[in-house]
Amino acid sequence: MKKIMLLWIGLALALMACGHDEQPESKQPDTDSPTEETAESNENNSNQDSKDINQSEEPAPEEEEIGPQLVLASEDPDNIHILVNKTHFLPDDYVPADLVVPNVPFPFEEFAEKKQLRLEAATALEALFQASKKAGLDLVAASGYRSYERQAVIYQNNVEKNGKKHADKFSAQPGSSEHQTGLAMDVTSAEMAFALEQTFEQTDEGAWLADNAYKYGFVIRYPEGKEAITGYSYEPWHIRYVGKELAKELYTRSLTLEEYYDLQQK
Ligand SMILES: [Zn+2]
Repeated sequence: MKKIMLLWIGLALALMACGHDEQPESKQPDTDSPTEETAESNENNSNQDSKDINQSEEPAPEEEEIGPQLVLASEDPDNIHILVNKTHFLPDDYVPADLVVPNVPFPFEEFAEKKQLRLEAATALEALFQASKKAGLDLVAASGYRSYERQAVIYQNNVEKNGKKHADKFSAQPGSSEHQTGLAMDVTSAEMAFALEQTFEQTDEGAWLADNAYKYGFVIRYPEGKEAITGYSYEPWHIRYVGKELAKELYTRSLTLEEYYDLQQK
């Protein structure tokens, strides 16, 4: 008799466990484990999930956790979540009010406009650089804030030198550069001779940056394989501050800012 009771209890527990496992298991890979492999398997999972979601009522309980909605550069340029790209322009006269020079290594000593970032991003960059130093790496900040006027000169020079098609691929039209937000910094290293090139990803500094920037609120804004979405070639050196929460979300789900806001609007 006792044996049968135990069997029943065992069976009941097993059934309960099965029912409960389903949800936490599907969420677990999203929270941590930021390796490439899991990012891929996440993608596969999320493909399956999206089919399931259509049939179940899953979106309802998640409503509380919804992150920032699309923040237009033209409407709220001071918001750290703003989307600036080839179709979302900043106002011509936008200059961040809280620009400072972060205390990080630059390839040159003298003051320059491009050494600056907005205060919140500058503080986060200092923390990022300190962590990279602890890891034995030597990151160098190359180029941060860029005014509308300076971007206009850069873009025009590029058009004159290489033609509009090439220029549009590699430099932004004035008003559409993230550097005007004061939230973006181009990062390089002495090993790269301070150049901004795709081979940066193969250096220890570049690899570390790709894996750790999100912990300090930054994302690699123009990832490999997302050129058609961002409108930019792969730039392993260009990091954009979006705050820790959103950075982690974008990193763990392998999303660009464009994809993230697209999903939020659906
Ligand atoms: Zn850049």
